[in-house]
Amino acid sequence: MTQFSEFTDLCIQIESIPGSLEMTDVFAEFLKNIDDDELAVSCYMVMGEIFPAWTGKKLGLGPNLLFSALSKAAGISLDQIKALLRETGDIGETTYRALCADKKSQSTFSSFFDTEDGGDGSCSAGGRLSIREVYDRLKEIADASGKGAQSQKIKSLQYLFSESSPIESKYISRIALEELRIGIGEGIVRDSIAKAFDVPVAQVEFAFMVTNDLGEVAAASKKGGVDALSHQHIQVNRPVKMMLAQVTNSIEGAFAELNEAAIEWKFDGARLQIHKNGNDISLFTRRLENVTNSMPDVVKAVLEAVTAENAVLDGEAVAIDESGKPRPFQDILRRFRRKYDVENTSRDIPISVKLFDLLYVDGVSYIEKPLIERRKKLSEIIKPGANGISVDDLEITNDPEVAAEIYRQAIAAGHEGIMIKNPNSPYSPGKRGKNWLKKKPVMDTLDLVVIGGEWGSGKRKNKIGSYVLACYDNVKNVYLEIGRVGTGLSDELLDALTEQFSELIEVENGVTLKIKPEVVFEIAFEEIQKSPNYPAGYALRFPRLISVREDKTIEEIDTLEKIERMYQGQKE
Ligand code: AMP
Repeated sequence: MTQFSEFTDLCIQIESIPGSLEMTDVFAEFLKNIDDDELAVSCYMVMGEIFPAWTGKKLGLGPNLLFSALSKAAGISLDQIKALLRETGDIGETTYRALCADKKSQSTFSSFFDTEDGGDGSCSAGGRLSIREVYDRLKEIADASGKGAQSQKIKSLQYLFSESSPIESKYISRIALEELRIGIGEGIVRDSIAKAFDVPVAQVEFAFMVTNDLGEVAAASKKGGVDALSHQHIQVNRPVKMMLAQVTNSIEGAFAELNEAAIEWKFDGARLQIHKNGNDISLFTRRLENVTNSMPDVVKAVLEAVTAENAVLDGEAVAIDESGKPRPFQDILRRFRRKYDVENTSRDIPISVKLFDLLYVDGVSYIEKPLIERRKKLSEIIKPGANGISVDDLEITNDPEVAAEIYRQAIAAGHEGIMIKNPNSPYSPGKRGKNWLKKKPVMDTLDLVVIGGEWGSGKRKNKIGSYVLACYDNVKNVYLEIGRVGTGLSDELLDALTEQFSELIEVENGVTLKIKPEVVFEIAFEEIQKSPNYPAGYALRFPRLISVREDKTIEEIDTLEKIERMYQGQKE
């Protein structure tokens, strides 16, 4: 049995390592030395997860619950916890300091925080819990639901904090809030498993692709080596990660690397992976959430159209209006999220599924077979003319002009563009490679003013990690929030922006900042959506910072009127 203190030491050690090779060595060594029933949970927890990837499940604990538990465990007020959070910007460090303060009870709270680490060594003693005990408690917290669940979660967390040392609690808090981020992702865990149990990385990768569960792969590697790994297979009702596409800027460019390409419309919908096990159908989203109960119409269509007994199919769920044009993306999300009154919503927003790939049929895995073969089989097992489900059109060509014509047709039909696929490529779950390329029109941009922000955490500590954006309502002469941008900003840019904005902070409330409107961002996005969540009444899908428009004043930014026009134009 391994103590959680050893897992904590592992985290501390890994955090101090810059290179992934050394991290792999360290984690491989750890895996070698733990018990069989600790293997899987260590693989999940080192990535800051509790559940294997295929479940699509997250721990889902709100920060306030954790603050309450910490406040109780440490015997300090919520306000003091929040003050600490403002100071450290990190939940782990806050937990550590709060619990050290508790341990060093003779000193006052404020004098305690004058010292860096709480000083007297009482905070570094090991706790009483094993890895499994911590894992099982966290899982219990994740699974608790219904009446009394909140207080149960607080109690469980409080228990974890009281049975662990402050340094262990630091990592427990970070796992509980899904903020462990010590630098280990799936790739390093995969390589560590290979190294620990002396099996080829490619074999581990294959087993991971089909099972979508690194914990299970680790256990199989230890138990049966290469032989056990090669016997792993796709399981019906367990979602596989979806293959993803890279952007290509030009059709010609895409053809430069391919003799022939398979061209399909890029439908404007949402990804759907369909599992059929006899009469039992399951539907999964791109994030591997199970949405079967929200889509009885799709379940019916699959039962009618798919002739194979068992199958795993990949496609896009598209909602079409009376005129045959795709409806806005959020209509499909409404369908996915619907839990009640499902029948009526199905009638209001009918879905049509466009199938474009196949991973498994009646005991045979297809992921390693070339796309053309997968497509041939797909056409064989789908009845043509079925209601609400069909195999999409695919054209194999070596002529960029043919692809350009299909592109024009897709855009004219209101879809996003085309997919340019390598006809000989396998299906690579979870990979965003060159075998699937997407060609879409150039993104639109808007000039928006920054009116707020949020302090980052972890690596982004002491930096403003995301920015609140507003457009101008020239009728009411106010700035209206329309969304946030935070992803895709380099560390250098974040530093420069943080410095630039530090002068403009008006109110600082926790990590939330109100910023004097002064700086204009040029923002690219994929679509404007109606949204009740923002005062502007609209939101941007996939916003990305293109540049800081030093040359623009805030009076020159885009207006609500223009955004309304763009939204209408988009619909037409
Ligand atoms: P993106 O979301 O822009 O990364 O584009 C990839 C997504 O396009 C996939 O995840 C699918 O949901 C969607 N898509 C639409 N049509 C197709 C198609 N014919 N082949 C593959 N993906 C498609």
